[in-house]
Amino acid sequence: MSKNTDVVVVGGGYAGVMAANRLTQRDDVTVTVINPRSVFVPRLRLHQLVGGTHDAVVDYKDVLAERVRLVVDSVTRIDAAGRKVTTGEGDTIAYDYLIYAVGSGTAGHRVPGAAEFAYPVATLEAAQRLRTVLFDTAMTAPVTVIGGGPTGIETAAELAEQGRNVTLICGGALGPYLHPKARRTARKYFAGLGATVIEGSDAAVTAVARDAVELGDGRTLASEVTIWTAGFDVPDLAARSGLRTDAAGRLLTDETLTSVDDARIVAAGDSSAPSDLPFRMSAYTAYCLGAHAADTLLRRIAGEQPTPIDLAFPAMCLSFGRDAGIYQLGHKDETATRLYFSGFAGKKLKEFACEAGIKHLATEARKPGSHHWFKDGKHRPQLLRARRDNTVAPVA
Ligand SMILES: Cc1cc2nc3c(=O)[nH]c(=O)nc-3n(C[C@H](O)[C@H](O)[C@H](O)COP(=O)(O)OP(=O)(O)OC[C@H]3O[C@@H](n4cnc5c(N)ncnc54)[C@H](O)[C@@H]3O)c2cc1C
Repeated sequence: MSKNTDVVVVGGGYAGVMAANRLTQRDDVTVTVINPRSVFVPRLRLHQLVGGTHDAVVDYKDVLAERVRLVVDSVTRIDAAGRKVTTGEGDTIAYDYLIYAVGSGTAGHRVPGAAEFAYPVATLEAAQRLRTVLFDTAMTAPVTVIGGGPTGIETAAELAEQGRNVTLICGGALGPYLHPKARRTARKYFAGLGATVIEGSDAAVTAVARDAVELGDGRTLASEVTIWTAGFDVPDLAARSGLRTDAAGRLLTDETLTSVDDARIVAAGDSSAPSDLPFRMSAYTAYCLGAHAADTLLRRIAGEQPTPIDLAFPAMCLSFGRDAGIYQLGHKDETATRLYFSGFAGKKLKEFACEAGIKHLATEARKPGSHHWFKDGKHRPQLLRARRDNTVAPVA
């Protein structure tokens, strides 16, 4: 009889849940997910939680395979040499293999006053707190959203749609990933919602006070509630555990997603940095990487050679409140095409993408091994080669 293999998955987000479900293909693998909450958080709904249109939680029984054990706790240290983790409750859990999928959270506040006076949105608890603050704030009060990426855009639009007095300060371009045509549409949506959009790096926020924000161009804007959405940071668990990370703290892996320090540790999602060339942080990327991380372990357990990750990022979608959206199609090299869907079609596609994330996890729980994703095959190997040769990649 073959020996049972224990796999511990640290983090029960998109990457961790997908990986855990996929591992149940083998009856002789025991899977334990360790996560600080007893509910799954679809983080791409957190701006809706802030706006009061979604509670942004899903029962684990709807997305996690029955055979997977859930431990509600936080890992405080990974002991790679001893093959065990220590948790916040003081427990020790041993493993044969570990999947590192701790995701991301609020970016460190990089301007004076932001840590004290700006509210983040990137975690369930942060979004719940902000919701309470807004509940106690007059509808006419000025609300400033800092960050022109997807989280800032969606949060600003959600609040403007409710009739709040919103200013979005991008710190650069509005939706840097968007094609210029789609960006014009985004500006039109904000104008229709009555929100002010300030673009350009000259007008980036330089300081946050209790009731105002200061901009690089010398302006001071009144702001009763200031919301910080500029970037995500990752937990420092890998670095604290003595594992090598990229400059942002993501676990460094090879192209099979295996830690460069330890063949028994595999990483996926926002907290992974394959070849020091991390994929875009997104739910779609996270669950595809989660599936590949599981495949790497399953191959290793079977005595086979794991394969390199091959993943294309086909599109990005944004909601502009509950009535409009933009679904921006992308080239395989992660640049935007001229093609995008807006208005009702964009909104429907955005909603479909949010639902699809949960459905893919649920399907994998029932039929482990069934998830497939868009392959690239070309651009990533080209980028890796170019970096190795220290030349500029020819982009097709
Ligand atoms: C407001 C908002 C809107 C977004 N919109 C989109 C969108 O439209 N499309 C899109 O693709 N992406 C979107 N994203 C990004 C997307 O949600 C993330 O990229 C995705 O959640 C990453 O998945 P993950 O599994 O890597 O990490 P997460 O979903 O962050 O899951 C990681 C899990 O690990 C847990 N964890 C952390 N530390 C520990 C520890 N020490 N021990 C145990 N568990 C731990 C965390 O609590 C969490 O449950 C959005 C994010 C936000 C905040």
